[in-house]
Amino acid sequence: MDVDALLARVLRQSAVLLVADARGVVLYASERSSEVMGGALVGQSLEALFAGEGGMMDELWPTLRAGGTWTGAIARKGPSGGPSWLRGTVFPVRDEAGELRFVATATPVSRAAHLEGDLRDAASLYEHAPYALHSLDESGRITRVNTTWLLWMGYVRDEVEGVLSFEDVLTSESYAVFLEAFPVFKERGSVRDIEFTFRRKDGSTFPGLLSSTAIKDASGRFVRSRAVILDLSARKRAEDELAEAKRAADAANKAKSEFLSSMSHELRTPLNAILGFAQLLGRDKSPQLTARQLGYLKHVLRGGEHLLQLIDEVLDLARIESGRVPISVEPVDVEAVLREVSVTLGPMAQSRGVTLALMPPPPDLPQIRVDRTRFSQVLLNFGSNAIKYNRAAGHVSFIASVTASGEVRVTVSDTGIGIPADRQAELFQPFHRLGQETGSIEGTGIGLAIVKRLVELMGGRVGVHSTPGKGSEFWVEFPAFEITPEERVSSAPRTPAHRDLASPEGRRYKALYIEDNPANLALMQELLATLESFELLTAPTAEIGIELARAHRPDIVVLDINLPGMNGFEAIEHLKSSPETRAIPVVALSASAMERDLRRAEQAGFSRYLTKPVKIEELEGALSDLVAKLQA
Ligand code: ADP
Repeated sequence: MDVDALLARVLRQSAVLLVADARGVVLYASERSSEVMGGALVGQSLEALFAGEGGMMDELWPTLRAGGTWTGAIARKGPSGGPSWLRGTVFPVRDEAGELRFVATATPVSRAAHLEGDLRDAASLYEHAPYALHSLDESGRITRVNTTWLLWMGYVRDEVEGVLSFEDVLTSESYAVFLEAFPVFKERGSVRDIEFTFRRKDGSTFPGLLSSTAIKDASGRFVRSRAVILDLSARKRAEDELAEAKRAADAANKAKSEFLSSMSHELRTPLNAILGFAQLLGRDKSPQLTARQLGYLKHVLRGGEHLLQLIDEVLDLARIESGRVPISVEPVDVEAVLREVSVTLGPMAQSRGVTLALMPPPPDLPQIRVDRTRFSQVLLNFGSNAIKYNRAAGHVSFIASVTASGEVRVTVSDTGIGIPADRQAELFQPFHRLGQETGSIEGTGIGLAIVKRLVELMGGRVGVHSTPGKGSEFWVEFPAFEITPEERVSSAPRTPAHRDLASPEGRRYKALYIEDNPANLALMQELLATLESFELLTAPTAEIGIELARAHRPDIVVLDINLPGMNGFEAIEHLKSSPETRAIPVVALSASAMERDLRRAEQAGFSRYLTKPVKIEELEGALSDLVAKLQA
């Protein structure tokens, strides 16, 4: 008997046997192979053949290259169409010529045997998943944990399973949470995303997120939990860093705001003297300044006013950017605001030889919901730019309309120099003056930046169309605010009533000015000297001022806020709490123009809050209002 021949025949006919070359390409396949694996096998790669569904091929080549034998489960589409399960083995051999060959054998196996392989995979996944997994019994004792759990908590298995309770791996705060949640969980059968702080064997802690489901028996009794823990350390760190960054940003913002406030105070105080005395000098009749001196004076005033505007705009922008600008929206009649704005801009247009036109708005123009003061500020900015950047004998028009999508749009169009398309993007950025910085037209380059932020804060949009040499159209759009006619608030123009300062009987009023700065005191003295109906008392500190107020009962007190010793807010508290002085109207005069100071002043009981530098007209207005009240 030729045993070799017999063996060869048996192998060919009954074994799944493949021989592949060094690259894994099948050179030979036994007859049985084709029956079991189906199709023509020669010429295919081992990978392609074995990598059917469920094949564990990742380790094939590393194992073979290391000279080892690979064994694994393989699922292939069987000849009948359904899956056929094989257990495969591949190992390297040298043929008689010394060439590297791979021999693969496979044995058909039952599904159960195949599943065993799957189970091993699942067990490996359970043990090494990137989450900590555990089970607790009814009393909260830990019955089972995975390897990841042990790694995270710093224990070995024997110290944990059946030994520790969940309490042992929690901080006391977290254990309190667990005590409350566990009975509810056993009742409900699941719990999601509870945050616990876990305590490792070495006492260190880490934050984790736990979700769990309960396993119950047929009678619905709780048997054990199946829980997964996610390590939140990285997320918590990121959150902490974010919170810290926010705290730092808030602190920086506050510091910036405070810096700006005190800076503006420091700048406004000397400006107060410069502008105030320059104004007085212009009014001085004894002797009258020469035309040339008046010309110089005009430069001083213009420069001072420009500086003041710059300070105000920087402050305003800083306030808006730090989110501190209070916006109080109300239903606003667009046409009324347009009328006011064109009245305000009238003198400026006239002085530059530009005509202003207010186009009749469409009938039934809806109201909008905006902050009225801020809305006029926006239109004043558009309007003054349209006048400034216009040509001689140019035109500016205000047009209100309703867009196709129902928004209310106001367009300010001019016949001015226009803006090249490639520079229009810079328009709404602060300090961009688009070449005007070298020209003769005064500006700060901040106005439009403020406009855009304000409009967006109020829920609107801004935009521009412009043709160089022809003119520009700046527009602003807000959603229409529909109300019933009865609700229509009257938005008549608010022009301050300006009354005559002289009293009918030639009575003289007593004003008390409490101020420590000698230049400001002198300025007020000079100013009131030009208003003949006022007699002025002055005090350099709040303490003296309060005494004078009690003794002389002035008709009005003008109070500086930043005083040595008692400040203006404390002083008004004294004045308002004493029966002799309670009724005297008090006007605040302060270099601080921050919004919150204004609000605080209102609450403190000031009749008016004027900011330095003093605008003589404004002070006159405030005094005349009070005089009118006294006469009434
Ligand atoms: P300012 O006028 O104080 O410089 P703005 O922010 O209001 O600052 O405007 C920024 C720049 O945009 C101006 O310097 C000017 O170059 C340009 N600009 C604004 N409005 C117009 C306009 N109607 N026509 C032409 N250029 C304009």
